[in-house]
Amino acid sequence: MQEHPIFAGIDLGGTSIKYGLCHSDGSVIAQFSAVAEVSAGPEALIERIAHCGRDLVAESERLGFRLPYVGFGTPGVVDPIAGKVVGMSPNIPGWEKIEIKQRLEASLGMPIIVENDVNAMAVAEHRCGAAKGFRNALTTTVGTGIGGGLIIDGRLYRGGIGAAGEIGHITVVKDGELCGCGRRGCLERYASAGSLLRSATEIARSYGGASELTAELKREGRLTVHTILSAFKDGDEIAVSAVSTIVDYLACGLASVLAVMNPDILVIGGGIAEGGGEKYVNFVAKRIREYAIEPSVIQLTVRPAQLGNSAGFIGAALLGTT
Ligand SMILES: [Zn+2]
Repeated sequence: MQEHPIFAGIDLGGTSIKYGLCHSDGSVIAQFSAVAEVSAGPEALIERIAHCGRDLVAESERLGFRLPYVGFGTPGVVDPIAGKVVGMSPNIPGWEKIEIKQRLEASLGMPIIVENDVNAMAVAEHRCGAAKGFRNALTTTVGTGIGGGLIIDGRLYRGGIGAAGEIGHITVVKDGELCGCGRRGCLERYASAGSLLRSATEIARSYGGASELTAELKREGRLTVHTILSAFKDGDEIAVSAVSTIVDYLACGLASVLAVMNPDILVIGGGIAEGGGEKYVNFVAKRIREYAIEPSVIQLTVRPAQLGNSAGFIGAALLGTT
């Protein structure tokens, strides 16, 4: 049995667990998916994750390799030394009580590296995706929530206790709407999937002209993010207006991050970026230039994320190789 040439990562999401094996250049050898069932509680969830880990160990042994460790990406702020989530995981009830690293190490009998999921994605995009070759990269995910991961001088920047990059919780509206984090006016509350849905529904209800979205609303009684983004790509007026509203907030928040960090590249991923495609990313890139101070965008490259929903497990797998 050979040591080290392949790596294993697990990426926990709100609905599914993506996991797989890859080479050190990020090329995927095998990938799998399991249902997360976070509502079954943290104990059941840790057992499910351990099961995924055992699958990876078995698969690597079948291929004749011994894994050095298993990387694990999870929503929430992660203290890597304690190996547990210390905050910001409201969608996984009870998750902050679990000693994730310790429990998985005991269950799998090998080292586990725990990291925030968007940080893991940022590592993957930097090592082998859209930000490859750039020294300073800001990766953001825009979907149900808004996350961020910072690569500074070629390395993941975690901050004091791992809470760096929480760009969804930058305040963009003073005393604004209540966010899932318990505070008010956060970017996530104004630029994520829920905001897009609200904005498009509101515009569609009062819209006088013909639109595929007004027809959809009449027929189904509600819109979906998927139909809004597909109408956006077709140039539907309501969809373009709704996307414009959320992009405006996103650009406003990101401009602040650019002013602080001055990255060479901004990578945009997540469900909305995938659904809205290049048109959405170009929209964001254009609007950022209206909000940001000029020096922070002179050399800025803006690109869509390249690795899709494999980025999380690839990044987790590569955590120990940087
Ligand atoms: Zn918040």
